[in-house]
Amino acid sequence: MTPAEYVVALADHVRGAGGKITDRTEVEAVERHGTGLKVHCAGRTLGADAVVLASGALLSDLARPHGVRLPVHAGRGYSFTVDCDEPLQRPLYLPSARVAITPTAAGARVTGIMEFAGADDPPVAARFATIERGARPMLRGIDWASRANDWVGSRPLTADGIPLVGASRTKDVYVAGGHGMWGVTLGPLTGQLLAEQIVTGVMPPELRALDPTR
Ligand SMILES: Cc1cc2nc3c(=O)[nH]c(=O)nc-3n(C[C@H](O)[C@H](O)[C@H](O)COP(=O)(O)OP(=O)(O)OC[C@H]3O[C@@H](n4cnc5c(N)ncnc54)[C@H](O)[C@@H]3O)c2cc1C
Repeated sequence: MTPAEYVVALADHVRGAGGKITDRTEVEAVERHGTGLKVHCAGRTLGADAVVLASGALLSDLARPHGVRLPVHAGRGYSFTVDCDEPLQRPLYLPSARVAITPTAAGARVTGIMEFAGADDPPVAARFATIERGARPMLRGIDWASRANDWVGSRPLTADGIPLVGASRTKDVYVAGGHGMWGVTLGPLTGQLLAEQIVTGVMPPELRALDPTR
C-alpha cells in the first residue's frame, strides 16, 4: 500500500466507524460557551462536547488562546514524483543525502530537506534541485526529466522537541500535535492515549511529559 492509499484507507475507516470528515474547511477559533464548545469555521458555527486541536504546524494559532504557550514552528520538507523503469518494491532511504524514496502508482516520490520557514510561504524552487542532486548519483532507472507533483509540507516542531498532547487550559479542549519528524510513527499511539484521557477523564502517565500547557 502506498502512503496516499494508506491515507485514503484511513479516511474510509473513520467514515465506516460513523465519523464525518468535513475537508477544506478552515477552523477560525474554538471557544467555550456555557456547558459546551463552539467551533467557528468558514462562516458557520458547530457545537461540540469536546474538541481536539490538531492543526499541525499552524497549531499555535488555534491553541494559544487556550493556554498553550510553547510555540510550534514549521520544519518544511519537499517532495516530487518521478517515473521509474521498474516499479519500486519498497521505500528507500539514502542517509548521506537525507533523501527518502517511496513507491507511487506510477513510479516514486522523492523527499528531503528540513527548512525553517512559514508554513504558508511559497516553496523555494531551488530545494527540488538540491534533492535531485543528492539522490541522482545513487539511483539507476529514474527518469528525472519526468519530475511532477512538486510539494512542500510542514513538520510541526515544538521549541523543546517534545509533542503537545493532552488537555488545554479550557475545559474539554484538547491538543494533539508537535510530533515533528515522528507524527506518522507516534501519532497512532498518542492519539489512542489522548482518546483514553478524553473518555475517562484520567491522564495516562505516558502523557505527563507531553502536557501542552508545560
Ligand atoms: C517531508 C516529511 C517527511 C516526513 N517523514 C516522516 C516519517 O518518515 N515518519 C514519521 O513518523 N513522520 C514523518 N513526518 C512527520 C509527519 O508527517 C508529521 O509529524 C505529521 O504529519 C504531523 O501530523 P499532524 O496531524 O500534527 O499535522 P499535519 O499532518 O500537518 O495535519 C494538520 C492538518 O490540519 C490542517 N489545518 C491547519 N490549520 C487548520 C485550521 N485552522 N482549520 C482546519 N484545518 C487546519 C492542515 O491543513 C493539515 O491538513 C514527515 C514530515 C514531512 C514534511
